[in-house]
Amino acid sequence: MSHEVVVIEGDGIGREVVPAAVEVLEALPVDFEFVEAEAGDAVEERTGAALPAETYDLAADADATLFGAAGETAADVILPLREAVDSFVNVRPAKAYPGVDAVRPETDVVFLRENTEGVYAGHEDRLSDDLSTLTRVVTSSASRELAEYACEFVEDGRGPSGDPDEGFTVAHKANVMRETDGRFREEVLAVADERGVDADEELMDAFATKLPLDPTQYGVIVCPNLAGDVLSDLAAGLVGGLGLLPSANIGHDNALFEPVHGTAPDIAGEGIANPTAAILSAAMLLEYLGHVEEGQRVRDAVEGVLSDGPRTGDLGGDATTDEVTAAVVDRL
Ligand code: ATP
Ligand code: MG
Repeated sequence: MSHEVVVIEGDGIGREVVPAAVEVLEALPVDFEFVEAEAGDAVEERTGAALPAETYDLAADADATLFGAAGETAADVILPLREAVDSFVNVRPAKAYPGVDAVRPETDVVFLRENTEGVYAGHEDRLSDDLSTLTRVVTSSASRELAEYACEFVEDGRGPSGDPDEGFTVAHKANVMRETDGRFREEVLAVADERGVDADEELMDAFATKLPLDPTQYGVIVCPNLAGDVLSDLAAGLVGGLGLLPSANIGHDNALFEPVHGTAPDIAGEGIANPTAAILSAAMLLEYLGHVEEGQRVRDAVEGVLSDGPRTGDLGGDATTDEVTAAVVDRL
């Protein structure tokens, strides 16, 4: 069975790292039908639409989408694309690799971030010259859905330790936002309890101190939308660079995979971008489509290259995107 995967390079280094990820996927014994689609600044300049309707529809109908990055138009592209794939959870692993300089080399965590509500779905209003407000949205249904996903994730041994008994940590601020985070916390812990998954909790501010001090205390971390955004970036800082971090936006019957980094305009067009984040995003895509073994093969190949080289400039080497990609393919 062939998987239809929509490929959206977007702008900047998206055009360099996405083809690298596709090259890696093509090196595997998995049948893909890649469909190229456009989004971002360049297509907006040409057509007036940062996310053309065809691209939205292709992503909505595909088995999965691989996305690079969009520049100025990022919000106009990625928010609707997440909606196109009906994504309710953003999965962001942050793992330090041997051979890569990291603030905390022992870091190995996965954030499961609520992807539809919180302050990002909230309604902002300018009520007067002096006053603006924001309404925060939290539903029991979205909180429970995220928690169900987290339980499955842990039960399937997909957490960093691979041990279903590791459970997860829910980070929130329910002591202050008693109604919204209170609801979130209560529902997430209730689902964990119903399913017999071990769950502990942290206040998100305390968590922001404890994570960098000792990341080994944590594995799978479940967060509301904004908290997940900020805290997973914090974790990114611990592992040594944006060029390494993949992410997945998982929906009910669809998903979108993208590196955490953006268009990196300072190095775009030079062929020196680190393709690791995009390639690891492709590994997550493989796993999502049921090719768990191939996903692991890609991870192993990437890990080998990170450890032995060649490396791109951001990791202190002088290899090109193509050289790193070829080295990964070679190991496959
Ligand atoms: P955008 O507005 O599109 O997010 P940005 O200027 O914030 O662009 P990012 O892509 O977020 O740039 O990355 C910040 C910096 O990190 C870049 O300027 C670049 O130096 C570095 N960087 C990010 N991704 C990579 C990568 N894949 N390879 C090498 N360096 C990278
Ligand atoms: Mg950026």
